[in-house]
Amino acid sequence: MSRFFHSRYASLEAYTPGEQPRDKQYIKLNTNESPFPPSEGVLRALGESEMADLRLYSDPTAKKLREALALRYDLAPENVYAAGGSDDVLNFAFMSFGEGGVAYPAISYGFYSVFAALHGIAAEEIPLRDDFSIDIADYYDKHKLIVIANPNAPTGLCLSLCEIEDILSRNRDCVVVIDEAYIDFGGESAYTLIPKYDNLLVVQTFSKSRSMAGLRLGYALGNTDLITDLEKLKYSTNPYNLGRLTQLCGTAALAEDDYYMNHCKTIIENREYTKRELRALGFTVTESMANFVFAKSPDIAGEALYLALKQRGILVRHFTREEIADYNRITIGSMDEMQSFIKTVKEILGK
Ligand SMILES: *Cc1c(COP(=O)(O)O)cnc(C)c1O
Repeated sequence: MSRFFHSRYASLEAYTPGEQPRDKQYIKLNTNESPFPPSEGVLRALGESEMADLRLYSDPTAKKLREALALRYDLAPENVYAAGGSDDVLNFAFMSFGEGGVAYPAISYGFYSVFAALHGIAAEEIPLRDDFSIDIADYYDKHKLIVIANPNAPTGLCLSLCEIEDILSRNRDCVVVIDEAYIDFGGESAYTLIPKYDNLLVVQTFSKSRSMAGLRLGYALGNTDLITDLEKLKYSTNPYNLGRLTQLCGTAALAEDDYYMNHCKTIIENREYTKRELRALGFTVTESMANFVFAKSPDIAGEALYLALKQRGILVRHFTREEIADYNRITIGSMDEMQSFIKTVKEILGK
């Protein structure tokens, strides 16, 4: 830290991204990326003339991209805000709607506590039940911003649309953010409730189900007034928050959305295979509805398994937090990758 650093940020504990080691070729099952490449249309979208156009600023309104998203989700472009990854969207959501504090599950996406600290927002971390499920009654009448990842990370557990609606109707005086980074892997999205609830902000991303984590594109869907608030912060920070290539690729991907949604079905099949195999080996595995499984073995500690896998060229994500230290989060890759993973686990366990 330099002696010039603003004192407000001196004690900030930043988010730790999953490791991206370059020392050798790993089977990467640690950051919930897709094993599938982007669709053909995305590759075609990047021609020479688009490269030449890079001398020009991008469209600050991201018109075409927002229109394509609106069409996909049966909304108007004014219901759509797009930014550089859903992390950027969430950051603005905390800034915009967190004045009265924020509540989120105690075990969830690690960035929520970072955003709260960054903006000096009082955070209430609501414990999960012992089986990691969310008790929706804990989220009634909070009178503060509520943020719920659905499916939750890293547990993969999903609330039903009825349960989400229950939380929305019990919190009419505050914003409820549903972070749907993993919704395309089997859960039911809450975007259909947007016409009914002006306090709902649904946040999604191209990083997981749309195979483009490296593009950095996320978006929020919600009531026009909420979107206007996010836009205000964008125009006070970085009006060109989405580059030309990002807008082009995102729009091209949405024209071929079936391609991505079909790959999600394959991921779901591979996930169910992985769950069955791990359970057959004695693992406790949550009923994940995401592109990862969350599992613990009775025979080996979470960290020991993580290290043994890494040594054998397979990366998974281990969290040191006490309640979940026995577990690992394993991203679902291709069938080949999952078979290698299971084979390697059997070797490690001597089974
Ligand atoms: C991966 C993830 C994000 C961030 O996604 P980006 O769009 O890549 O910034 C947000 N929320 C949750 C729960 C995630 O797992």
